[in-house]
Amino acid sequence: MINLIIFGPPGAGKGTQAEMIAKEFNLFHLSSGELLRQAAKDPSLEKEINGYLSAGQLVPDKLIIKLIDEPIQKYIENNGIIFDGYPRTLNQARLLDETFLSKNLELPFIINLELEEEEATKRVMSRAKNSNRIDDNLEVVTERFKVYHQETQPLLNYYIEQNRLVQIDGRPSIEEVTKQIIGAIKK
Ligand code: AMP
Repeated sequence: MINLIIFGPPGAGKGTQAEMIAKEFNLFHLSSGELLRQAAKDPSLEKEINGYLSAGQLVPDKLIIKLIDEPIQKYIENNGIIFDGYPRTLNQARLLDETFLSKNLELPFIINLELEEEEATKRVMSRAKNSNRIDDNLEVVTERFKVYHQETQPLLNYYIEQNRLVQIDGRPSIEEVTKQIIGAIKK
């Protein structure tokens, strides 16, 4: 069983890489962003969720924790989960660890895709044409970076202190980055 978290700023390639890695190791790809975009199709949640997404803000912990609990419980005992976009706050990270600990499972390790803001922004903007996402525009991307630096990046220290972090250079081609991640997992 392999459980891992793919981490990094917006546009670093988390979703793309998570998809490749999930296929390679037969893992469940759990994307919190995708979960929210699907949940927003429910008229009773649409306004609330899209309000946060379109502003580039994180949805409240309570909301995402509630939504993500079901797929976690469903797939945690299977072959493993690759978390994409979750956790994004220290509170989420601690709760996720508690879930694994309560089941006597090894804690997931973290692949951090490193990419500078300038390159990451370029990637999001080129994806924008086809993504149909309400948050892939320059103004919102700038906000998403701000939120990343303030609320999500500090998690790296939490994982470094626990020796659970693997750094991967996000600049090379998709295939090359996948190769590096596969290498890190097999180690
Ligand atoms: P993503 O698809 O991972 O880029 O996420 C898109 C948006 O969904 C983010 O900008 C947040 O508004 C929201 N979101 C995704 N994951 C989380 C999370 N773990 N906690 C709070 N908000 C999230």
